[in-house]
Amino acid sequence: MTWLHSGFRGRTRILFTGLALAMLLLFTGLLHTLLVHRLQRTAESEQQALLDKIDQALRQAAQARLQVLGTLGDADTLWSGGLDGREAQDLVERLNRSSRHPGWLGVIDLHGRVRAATQGQLIGHRLRDEAWFSAGLRGGRLEPVDDPILRALRLGPNHHALAFVVPIRRGGEVLGLLVELRGWDWADAAIAGVLPPQTEHPGLSVILGDGLGRPLYHWHAKPAASPRSGPLLLERSRWIGPNQDLDWTLLLEQPRRGVHANADQLGSLVLLAGLMFSLVLVGGIWWSSARLARPVERIAAAAQRIAEGHLDTAIPQFDGGSTEFRAMSRAIATMSQRLIEARRMLEEEVRARTTELEDANTRLAHLADTDQLTGLLNRRGLEPRLDHALALARRQHRPLSLLTLDIDHFKAVNDQHGHAAGDAVLRGLGHWLGQRLRSTDFCARTGGEEFVLVLIDSPAPAAEALARLLVREIAALEMPAVGGITVSIGLAESQHTPGDSAALMQAADEALYAAKRTGRNRVVGVPKPPPGAGARG
Ligand code: GH3
Ligand code: MG
Ligand code: MG
Repeated sequence: MTWLHSGFRGRTRILFTGLALAMLLLFTGLLHTLLVHRLQRTAESEQQALLDKIDQALRQAAQARLQVLGTLGDADTLWSGGLDGREAQDLVERLNRSSRHPGWLGVIDLHGRVRAATQGQLIGHRLRDEAWFSAGLRGGRLEPVDDPILRALRLGPNHHALAFVVPIRRGGEVLGLLVELRGWDWADAAIAGVLPPQTEHPGLSVILGDGLGRPLYHWHAKPAASPRSGPLLLERSRWIGPNQDLDWTLLLEQPRRGVHANADQLGSLVLLAGLMFSLVLVGGIWWSSARLARPVERIAAAAQRIAEGHLDTAIPQFDGGSTEFRAMSRAIATMSQRLIEARRMLEEEVRARTTELEDANTRLAHLADTDQLTGLLNRRGLEPRLDHALALARRQHRPLSLLTLDIDHFKAVNDQHGHAAGDAVLRGLGHWLGQRLRSTDFCARTGGEEFVLVLIDSPAPAAEALARLLVREIAALEMPAVGGITVSIGLAESQHTPGDSAALMQAADEALYAAKRTGRNRVVGVPKPPPGAGARG
């Protein structure tokens, strides 16, 4: 997971995302709890206020009805013709017709007998045993109807019937009761005034129960499609009725989900806002961490490349950004410049030292191959050159001659004139020999007073002639402090002497010994071939 790498960027991301989410979670949680809680409490107190309103509306509606009936019950003129007079009969019919939900109206005498009634229903029927009968004689009452016969009047769908009872009085004397039996349509109308049909109260019910806990009236909010599942919120109050003498219970019942719908909605909004805000925040953190980490990453990558040896790596420079980054990149750039300079100086130093060493080696090789007294080659310098010249001569079938030259009686020179004079003689002869030979030929001092001369492309006769000339010329040389010297020369020639350079040297040495033996100051050359052999001498 490269996006979560362990570098600066990944670490800042994890750290700040974690911190931000934790704080946001805490904040959103707190806000959610506070707001939702507050709104729920508000909704619940509104529910209580609603209950009070319904309570009052029901009471006022019932009171209004009792008042209408009470006014009629006290109207002397209505009852002048008796309880079953024409006025009374007209009244019950007219009253019933004027009601939007007609019920049953009856006039009952003090014996409980129905004297006048809507459509003549139940006339003559005795209702003395009804609970409301004796109470109604004392004043207006509202009572549930228990009598099965009255209930059979079908006064309202699914509702218990109610009896509005008022005394009929004439001149302060109670003559009987005016009773209206009806359903709960008045209650529906009263509740509709508090809860207009267009307002939404999902799952709301209003229940009115009597003192024995029997439900008398049940109202459902429309539409009732909202869920009735889940816990219910109940608000309860004592309903004392229009004359404040009832002990009924008014109940407001609604699923908590319905009551708390607004609170829940706001809670969801808060959570959604929190989620959106966290997304934006995390995005911002990721963007910022990338922006923050980029200079560090670029500097680190450049430093890494420098560490791998790419000293010329360009160091990123930051004109903006923080001072630390600018200082860091400047410091690395300076360091890499210094490294480049140090490397350049080191390389120069190494080059100079190598040249010096090569020079020293060349000088050493020259010294090793050179005779210090005469400046000629020594034996070590001679051998590889002689090997090479001999191999070349044999390959090209060309003659190569080799002369060994030894100063005669040199010991005596030393003895007579001293070692320094001897050295001077050696130096002078060496110098003279070096000058005397062709540039292609070469000469070496191979022993104390012994020299070797290699004559390239020289056949034995020519070499012998040169050797004789040398013997003569050396004898004629004037040596400082010593006077003159003589030399003996032995000669060997490649075409007469098979084998390597050692064989050639040995042949020349043998010739030299022969020259010494036979009197010195002379040349002994290649042995003359026996007569008829055809070889040249
Ligand atoms: P011969 O004619 O038989 O060659 O007699 P010689 O005396 O020349 O030969 P010998 O071998 O008896 O003596 C060689 C002498 O050369 C001995 C030594 O003192 C001398 N000698 C060798 N090397 C040097 C040198 O470097 N400097 C000097 N001054 N003398 C040297
Ligand atoms: Mg010698
Ligand atoms: Mg000698």
